[in-house]
Amino acid sequence: MKHDNFELKFWGVRGSIPVSGPEFDRYGGNTSCIELRHGGRRILFDAGTGVREAAAALRTDGIGEIDLFFTHTHYDHMIGLPFFDPIYSSDVTVNLWSGHLAGKSTTHELVDQFMRPPWFPVDPEICRATLGFHDFKAGDVLKPHPGIVMRTVTLNHPGGCIGYRIEWAGRIVALVYDTEHMAGKADDAALFLMKDADVAIYDATYTDAEMPKRLGFGHSTWQEGIKLAKLAGTKRLAMFHHAPERTDDQLDEIQAAAQAEFPGAFVAFDEQTLQL
Ligand SMILES: [Zn+2]
Ligand SMILES: [Zn+2]
Repeated sequence: MKHDNFELKFWGVRGSIPVSGPEFDRYGGNTSCIELRHGGRRILFDAGTGVREAAAALRTDGIGEIDLFFTHTHYDHMIGLPFFDPIYSSDVTVNLWSGHLAGKSTTHELVDQFMRPPWFPVDPEICRATLGFHDFKAGDVLKPHPGIVMRTVTLNHPGGCIGYRIEWAGRIVALVYDTEHMAGKADDAALFLMKDADVAIYDATYTDAEMPKRLGFGHSTWQEGIKLAKLAGTKRLAMFHHAPERTDDQLDEIQAAAQAEFPGAFVAFDEQTLQL
C-alpha cells in the first residue's frame, strides 16, 4: 500500500440484525463495520458481525495496533466484539473508543457489561491483548494518529449515537448513521459532517414511503441522504445500514433510482473497497 493511501473498506453494511441467504448474496448480510486505512494505520468503526472478517484481514496484514471507535453500542454495532480475534492475542493492542454515553457509561463499563455471563461464556478478563479504553464526548476533536483529525457530533438516535467526520491529507469521510431526520428540515449535524466530504456513509435504512410507519426508530432514508449530499457538496454518497429484509434486487432498484438523482450515490456492499 502506498504511504499516502486513504482507503475505506466496508466489512458490514446491514442494519439491525445480520441476514443470510441467496437474496442477500451480493450486498451482504453482516452488520456495521467499516475500516479506514491511512498511511499504514488502521481504524475500525463499529464491531457489528462484519468485524470478524476484518480481524482476519488485520491478522494477514500483521497489524499490531488497532483503534476501534463505536458510533454507539446497540447490538448491531457491538455483537461482533467478542468474536474479534485480536482481543485474545497477547501481541496486539486494541484501543476502544466511545462517546455516545459520555457522563453515563465509560467505554470500559460498556464492554464489561456486554461481554459477560449469562450473555457470553467468558468475561473480558480472558482477553490477552493490551486493551485501551478511551472516552470522549460529542463535540470533541480527536487526533488518534498523527495527521488524522476526527470531528464528532451527536446524531438523532435513541440513546445517542456519534457521527464522525474524518479528515486526513485533504480527504474527508463522513459517517452519518444511525440517525433519524425531521421531515422538511435538513439536519445541521449531518450537514456539518458531510460538508465537501469525498464520501458520506449515510443511514439509508428506509425509503421515504416507509418512513411514516417508522418514526422514532432512529433511522433515515436514501432520499434524505441525497438531499443532504446536494446541500453539503458531498462527492459520493454510500447508502448504508440496509434494512434486514431489503433484498439484492430491491437494493439494485434503490441504487438506480438514487443515481438518477445524484450520480455519486451507490449502495454499499460487504467487502467493498473505496480509494479516497
Ligand atoms: Zn444500527
Ligand atoms: Zn442504533
